[in-house]
Amino acid sequence: MAYSPLQKDLLRKLPKVDEVVQSLSGEAPRNLKIAACRQVLSTLRSYILSNENPDPARIEAGNIMQSVEEKLDELLKPSLVPLVNATGVVVHTNLGRSLLPPEIFESMMETAGRYSNLEYNLAEGVRGSRYSHVEEILCELTGAEAALVVNNNAAAVLITLETLAKGREVIVSRGELVEIGGSFRIPDVMARSGAILREVGATNRTHLRDYSSAICDETALLLKVHQSNFQVVGFTKSVSVRELSELGSDFGIPVYEDLGSGNFIDFSRYGMIHEPTVQESLSAGAGLVSFSGDKLLGGPQAGIIVGQKRFVEKIKKNPINRAVRIDKLTLAALEAVLRIYRDPDRAVRTVPTLRMLTMPFDGIRSGARRLARRLKALKIPGLAVDIVPTVSRVGGGALPLQRLDSMAVGLSAGSVGQCKLSAAGLEAALRSFSVPVITRIEEDRVLMDVRTLQKKDYAIITDAVRHVCREYPGADSGLL
Ligand SMILES: *Cc1c(COP(=O)(O)O)cnc(C)c1O
Repeated sequence: MAYSPLQKDLLRKLPKVDEVVQSLSGEAPRNLKIAACRQVLSTLRSYILSNENPDPARIEAGNIMQSVEEKLDELLKPSLVPLVNATGVVVHTNLGRSLLPPEIFESMMETAGRYSNLEYNLAEGVRGSRYSHVEEILCELTGAEAALVVNNNAAAVLITLETLAKGREVIVSRGELVEIGGSFRIPDVMARSGAILREVGATNRTHLRDYSSAICDETALLLKVHQSNFQVVGFTKSVSVRELSELGSDFGIPVYEDLGSGNFIDFSRYGMIHEPTVQESLSAGAGLVSFSGDKLLGGPQAGIIVGQKRFVEKIKKNPINRAVRIDKLTLAALEAVLRIYRDPDRAVRTVPTLRMLTMPFDGIRSGARRLARRLKALKIPGLAVDIVPTVSRVGGGALPLQRLDSMAVGLSAGSVGQCKLSAAGLEAALRSFSVPVITRIEEDRVLMDVRTLQKKDYAIITDAVRHVCREYPGADSGLL
């Protein structure tokens, strides 16, 4: 294809990467400056080549410099950034699941930036165990004999099955062969561990006799898996941990319960659906229980295994343990969160996950009024701000049937005045703000559930809405 004289002329005028890099000021690493220049110049080259009549203004030195500076800023920005969760999903796996209580930040950072007794026994001056820092308190809180923590609960399930049931059979109800999301499926993990799945019962009903008639010489474990993200309702029957443990003890076979989202707090005390606690599972006779650190517990990502010493010690010695071991920062956070649980009322007040789940409705209503007031005070023509009743969700595959009545602030931008964004445009623009605000759309309106908002978020949302509706270049022209 022949290029026009203008195209050829502009291509010739494009500066060399080196020249642009030379004239860039600022402290950015040279490699990044080069990368930014290359990207901008290559975009310009494609622009010129694909337009018979390219706009010469776009390759003026000033404009090129501005594009390069913008690209450089983009490259310098971290990829993992904090954001505002206005979705009302409390344990939101895509948005980082649990927020750590601010009161533990200082001690965590101190541990991170200094040497510590991570694997050092201070009393005896010899090598120690990294698990010792949380084992005792986990036993104290749950009543277990022994405890171990690994990278996450998926790892806990894998290593427990591998240690106790490799090459042997594990009996599980067909109603509990769950998929958690992110491709974690009990049958697949079981296969990877080398354990042999022996499924019993039907999807909706499993009886004690289904387990007992499946027990044979090859049976290593009776496994109970929390259904987590779904519930079977109607004509159903499942076998409790207690019944299963009694059966197991007749045959000398341990029961392992994968609780998924383990919790220490009885949520029914706060008007919510009862969710079996770790303590309950152990006292019902489970030999081992595993659960996540960052679901309902509200701590850092971790897989916590508690139960009888003879099993926990075996898991600790499994070489896989080294591959799934917990990092020291996580360990510091976990210890600090567990210490808060010594006083359950304090935990409910200060662990953000628990605070958001048990938030009194009055608090939610006043939060919604406060946010609505701030947004109305922006006086953006064409932007309707209302308070809308909504329902938050627990998330994290926990308590799927729990209804959490909540309040949201709804935004709808009509076609009058300055703000001419569609709900989808507004949602996308808020999501692209310097501190992204994640909302959801319902009935052509952007909803922000106040349950999952933190103190600072009110000001951030206000800035975001102001910026999006007043300053966003596309707002007036309806470009978004
Ligand atoms: C969430 C969940 C897991 C996986 O836990 P992670 O901590 O996310 O690895 C395993 N089993 C059940 C039943 C779960 O709900």
